[in-house]
Amino acid sequence: MDSFNNSLEIDTKEKELDKLRQEIAKCFDCPLSKTRKNTVPGEGNPNAKIMFIGEAPGAREDESGIPFCGQAGKFLDEMLQNIGLKREDVFILNTVKCRPPENRDPEDLEKAACRHFLDRQFEIIDPILVVPMGRHAVANFLPGAGGITALHGRVLKRPNGKYYFPLYHPAAALHNGGLRGTLIADFNKIPAILEKIETINPKIERKLT
Ligand code: URA
Repeated sequence: MDSFNNSLEIDTKEKELDKLRQEIAKCFDCPLSKTRKNTVPGEGNPNAKIMFIGEAPGAREDESGIPFCGQAGKFLDEMLQNIGLKREDVFILNTVKCRPPENRDPEDLEKAACRHFLDRQFEIIDPILVVPMGRHAVANFLPGAGGITALHGRVLKRPNGKYYFPLYHPAAALHNGGLRGTLIADFNKIPAILEKIETINPKIERKLT
């Protein structure tokens, strides 16, 4: 049985996400809390059909509290625009809510400490399609499924009934021109994938308001 309950009303979702934002702002559960300027809880439509998951906030995100607001974010916005979507239509977050110093990789302990926030956001938003971007998000959400090179651009349905569509991370594609075309081509498949999922699961159709 698929897990698209879509039972929470949008204002309930907003309230729940706001409560969570406040909890995240007060979190000191891992060492990243000592060096952060701001927490970056994630943002978007509480009723989003698509949830994008990145790696970790960088310097700009740490300054602003907004996910993907630098170069990689600009690229993500462009790709969204190409498929007729805006940031406000989707939900964008990271595997950890605080910036790792010098933009190092988030450590396992940090990802584990942050995981319950992600799980709660996942439960509240209840997305139809989950898009982990890059190896950290893939390892976090699809443990044991394989690496990003093998999984990017493939739809995976998991035992929780959710559909996942891993992509290369936009920042990786900015640094490696060879990945750019692949990421754009994969990204452009999103509308057709969503439509197919909604066609085979008519009860999950939902309005974005
Ligand atoms: N890269 C990420 O993974 N997340 C951000 O928020 C910004 C850059």
